[in-house]
Amino acid sequence: MLKLDFHPAGRHLLQIPGPSPVPDRILRAMSYPTIDHRGPEFGALGLHVLSGIKQVFKTKHPVAIYPASGTGAWEAALVNTCSPGDGVLMFETGHFASLWKKMAERLGLRPEFLGLPGVEGWRRGVDAGMIEERLRADKAHRIKAVCVVHNETSTGVTSDIAAVRRAIDGAGHPALLMVDTISGLAAADYRHDEWGVDVSVSGSQKGLMLPPGISFNALSARALDASKTATLPRSFWDWGDIVSMNETGYWPYTPNTNLLYGLSEALEMIFAEGLDQVFARHQRLAAACRAAVRAWGLEIQCADPAVYSPVLTGVMTPEGTDADAVRGLIYENFDMSLGTGLGKVKGRMFRIGHLGDCNDLTLMAALCGCEMGLQMAGVNLSGSGVEHALHYLRTHPAKVTGG
Ligand SMILES: *Cc1c(COP(=O)(O)O)cnc(C)c1O
Repeated sequence: MLKLDFHPAGRHLLQIPGPSPVPDRILRAMSYPTIDHRGPEFGALGLHVLSGIKQVFKTKHPVAIYPASGTGAWEAALVNTCSPGDGVLMFETGHFASLWKKMAERLGLRPEFLGLPGVEGWRRGVDAGMIEERLRADKAHRIKAVCVVHNETSTGVTSDIAAVRRAIDGAGHPALLMVDTISGLAAADYRHDEWGVDVSVSGSQKGLMLPPGISFNALSARALDASKTATLPRSFWDWGDIVSMNETGYWPYTPNTNLLYGLSEALEMIFAEGLDQVFARHQRLAAACRAAVRAWGLEIQCADPAVYSPVLTGVMTPEGTDADAVRGLIYENFDMSLGTGLGKVKGRMFRIGHLGDCNDLTLMAALCGCEMGLQMAGVNLSGSGVEHALHYLRTHPAKVTGG
């Protein structure tokens, strides 16, 4: 039974890297009455959000919106473009890259993982040079697609997608480029068309500040072409139906109306701030967060400063300190949720989300909770991360120019 007496004072601090906190105005927009999804009013809403989300992906091509979590949009990307037994080149950046690979296996594809062995690969971004070399060796063009994760949410690493496109072109290989930007979109710079991405996969509950429940496939002309000959079975995910219906603002099945109200509101917030301002805010908060981690004397999970994530920071706990025990202390004492270590790094790190509806003082509250929790867990900190983050924010004021 639901525990109705559990109502701690103040707001819960949801500092996991997705779902991210949903702003009140988005929650209010979602409370409008559900309307007829085949009626005239709905078509206008559909066209409005489909046009807005294209601006966020920076694409002129169709974007399909699925009533599904991000995992569904992963599947849509694979089943619309591939045939049984196709080779898929993937890069092991972390847990989410591993899950996408497992999905490719289950679907009857032949995924191949590139990357550094052990945990080392989980501390770096995609190495485009390795991709180019592998594609050059694939003279028979058995590899149908290259799949990479833009922002690896399990580690806090944001890979260079333009470099992957250059690697594919450099090898003269026809493989499609498919990118998971589920946690990157609307938080880290992303350019579907300019970077030559064929399928971009995203979701609602990260940078877009919505609850979980809708996900996206941004397409290219080549991806749509590939879908005409791809033979993996598909029905719900089929681009043919959804893309042609979406042109009129409608769906082949019932879309989640209220989440689309929320999306409309989120787009308004993002465009009012300005996409570039949104990215700059994330970069600045991430830098302040890293200043704190360094002052604590702890290691940042991402070992390459060139690919630090603006979305989240992975914090490694010292040998012998269970990161989940620290998270547990913080949850119990300060009512804050932090991201757990996933897969290979379980217990060795925790993740601080600083994405979406986050500002200086949200981040500082999170860092205060982390600092107290680490101290309570008996971790020997070399200094105050809170003081260093405050110093960073004070000496790097946000350049507020508005939309
Ligand atoms: C959250 C996330 C997923 C999974 O999305 P769901 O909505 O949980 O299905 C996949 N990849 C990345 C990079 C993510 O951040």
